Amino acid sequence: MGYTAAFDNTYARLPEQFYTRLDPSPVRAPRLVAYNHDLAQILGLPDAPEEALARVYGGVEVPEGAAPLAQLYAGHQFGHYSPQLGDGRAILLGEVVGRDGLRRDIQLKGSGKTPYSRMGDGRAWLGPVLREYIVSEAMHALGIPTTRALAAVLTGENVLRETVLPGAVLTRVAQSHLRVGTFQVFAHRGQIDDLRRLTDYAIARHYPDADGAMGLLRTVCAAQAKLVAQWMSVGFIHGVMNTDNCTISGETIDYGPCAFMDDFHANRVYSSIDQQGRYAYSNQPRIVIWNMAQFATALIQQCADREAAVEKATALVHAMPAQIERHWLDAFAAKIGIAAPEEGDGGLIEDLLALMQEDGADFTNTFDALTRGDARDQFTDRDAFDAWQTRWQDRVGDLSDAAELMARSNPRIVPRNHRLEEMIAAAVSGDYAPFERLRAELARPYDTEDRDLMRPPQPDEVVPATFCGT
Ligand code: AMP
Ligand code: MG
Repeated sequence: MGYTAAFDNTYARLPEQFYTRLDPSPVRAPRLVAYNHDLAQILGLPDAPEEALARVYGGVEVPEGAAPLAQLYAGHQFGHYSPQLGDGRAILLGEVVGRDGLRRDIQLKGSGKTPYSRMGDGRAWLGPVLREYIVSEAMHALGIPTTRALAAVLTGENVLRETVLPGAVLTRVAQSHLRVGTFQVFAHRGQIDDLRRLTDYAIARHYPDADGAMGLLRTVCAAQAKLVAQWMSVGFIHGVMNTDNCTISGETIDYGPCAFMDDFHANRVYSSIDQQGRYAYSNQPRIVIWNMAQFATALIQQCADREAAVEKATALVHAMPAQIERHWLDAFAAKIGIAAPEEGDGGLIEDLLALMQEDGADFTNTFDALTRGDARDQFTDRDAFDAWQTRWQDRVGDLSDAAELMARSNPRIVPRNHRLEEMIAAAVSGDYAPFERLRAELARPYDTEDRDLMRPPQPDEVVPATFCGT
């Protein structure tokens, strides 16, 4: 008998215009290179020999109980509407309800062509697969809502990018893969019954207390407002905040050209395709709000009293800047040891960030050093830092009280770009030691002692640009 899990596939029970039923395309020689046993436990997935797991998570064998399909969605990419995107290289195997009572999607990414592949080959190569594995799991360990990584499988096949590269499949786990773009596709096509059905589905699945379309908008705005503040607090730049990469669950999704900043600059951009800096670090709050405005526009199409809905939605979206500001203040205040921020604390934080920017201070290390009382070394303009530190100490008082909060709020390590690149290069040549090391240390970002992983890149190690990694 084959591999089986307790699937319960609610999405596959939606009408057929929501997706295309399709098995993953088999691969030649699946080999498991990473498996997340802890996550498998939570999901209640059965143990199996590595070969069996490789076959399932490489897309060779469809597990019993799965209902594989590619989801339909649309989305604004860099501000321009693409009427049809959809899973071009992903297959949703199905859903399981975990031991924690949460329902989650299990999705293969890189599993072959679908009707939504357009010009793409439906495949992924090992680099982005391992990158997403490490970064999404690091995000989870940082306490930030995110999709997670269950497995990485080498396919034994090559994929052609700029060069010939080893193919791989990532198994991604999410509370769902519903996106703003899933609503947009039906709204733009005028399929209002489907839009309603999707709205009901999203409410039942994620926010059972939400009252109708506007209630859903309110809760998603709240989740996204908190999420973006959390990203900011760890120096994370998503890189492709298109509406198809903006989840209804409020989880971070799609780790393409994302990056954690080394030296702080508010306008930092890594993504090679983000020429205008649309998705620059400090632009992210504005973009989340823009994305929620698109979500509102889609949702409104189903409301009987259109005028009232527009008014309501406008108010909800306009409430976002203050919400984000509040979460931002809470998160950054905690980073400097303030549990209950007051008026004026925002300025204290902004002034520190301005000093960091002027000095090119390392984002992660400066806050870690602040926690440990030796941040002065992070700055070249010591007088300016000393002046700031005096103000800070006046505000915070006994630093030993603040230290615990700071230690919980300031990770010691993040997945730095140059380490990810190094890890990928090693894995391509068959050495998974750097992958395993990143995996182990990034699982305990607040108390790792790995000094070497804390080290910022040397000038010749800096990775200035990231790529979409398709
Ligand atoms: P992303 O930028 O990863 O969010 O992807 C945007 C769209 O392009 C989605 O519809 C993807 O499924 C699709 N896509 C990305 N890479 C590929 C690929 N290699 N083959 C087919 N479709 C792809
Ligand atoms: Mg995407």
